Amino acid sequence: MKLTEILNGEKLSLSFEVFPPKTDSGFDSVKAATEEIAKLKPSFMSVTYGAGGGTSRYTLDIAKNIKAQHGVPTVAHLTCVSSTKETVLAKIEEMKAAGIENIMALRGDLTPEMEQQDRKNWAYRHATDLIRDIKEHGDFCIGGACYPEIHPESDNQKDDIKFLKAKVEAGCSFLTTQMFFDNNLLYNFLYKIREAGITVPIIPGIMPITNGNQIERAIKLSGSFVPQRFKSLVDKFGSSPDAMKQAGIAYATDQIIDLFANGITNVHVYSMNKPDVAAKISANLSDILG
Ligand code: FAD
Repeated sequence: MKLTEILNGEKLSLSFEVFPPKTDSGFDSVKAATEEIAKLKPSFMSVTYGAGGGTSRYTLDIAKNIKAQHGVPTVAHLTCVSSTKETVLAKIEEMKAAGIENIMALRGDLTPEMEQQDRKNWAYRHATDLIRDIKEHGDFCIGGACYPEIHPESDNQKDDIKFLKAKVEAGCSFLTTQMFFDNNLLYNFLYKIREAGITVPIIPGIMPITNGNQIERAIKLSGSFVPQRFKSLVDKFGSSPDAMKQAGIAYATDQIIDLFANGITNVHVYSMNKPDVAAKISANLSDILG
């Protein structure tokens, strides 16, 4: 099923992101965790793709398994940073053969070495280049990433939104946001992108922070603003694992309810392969989702 069929509906829905194993030996446990999450019957699940090799080779296996075993629509992520045309085109063919209908097209993060390189002659400098190739070589529903607090490499939001618009015009049918902890940042961003003429569905991405150490890593990666309300919660409960998990799930649930109440119809949860966290959030929203 193409994601646009879900996203263009009126029904409120919740989806989950999972990541593939980092090593061969981790495959069975990741497969089991993603199946537990699939049993919650989310509207769809997305499976990330490790930039520069790493975990990327299992993305399709996990995505195919979720769809085949549990009938949950899936989105397979694909990154292009430093890839050749041949590698990317081969990957697109592999996705077609695997029956993948939805691709999240990303550039991928630049390593410090890549940042020093002259990128002028790279086949893929931006996600937009990848989106054009996916569009040309298959009948996929394509998604892209967007950043309510601007991408860390961008100088200003105006340029970030200008490039985002080019990304949509290249063939994106939906956009998923980077995590954020203050919904007002999302509402402000939505206002600006709609004004810029970007009309595709936007899926807010919510990261439940369930342990004190995770917050530092998440913020370092995303550059997200942390509201005082959230800082107080980490200060108070960060050193007590069970309390922090409960508080983090409650905070994420609160964010999701506010998003639904303000007109958002699909929320994507960065569930980090944690079935218990995904299950608690689903249970908290059971009557709201209906
Ligand atoms: P782009 O859209 O190419 O943007 C990157 C930067 O380039 C931005 O500053 C943008 O403004 C600028 N830019 C874009 N087009 C142009 C242009 N034409 N000229 C000049 N500047 C331009 N990473 C993974 O490795 N695997 C994953 O599975 C993965 N999944 C993700 C899912 C989501 C929802 C999000 C938000 C991020 C994900 N990432 C993933 C991280 C992502 O790869 C990084 O954030 C990366 O730094 C940027 O990727 P992008 O596709 O947004 O890049």
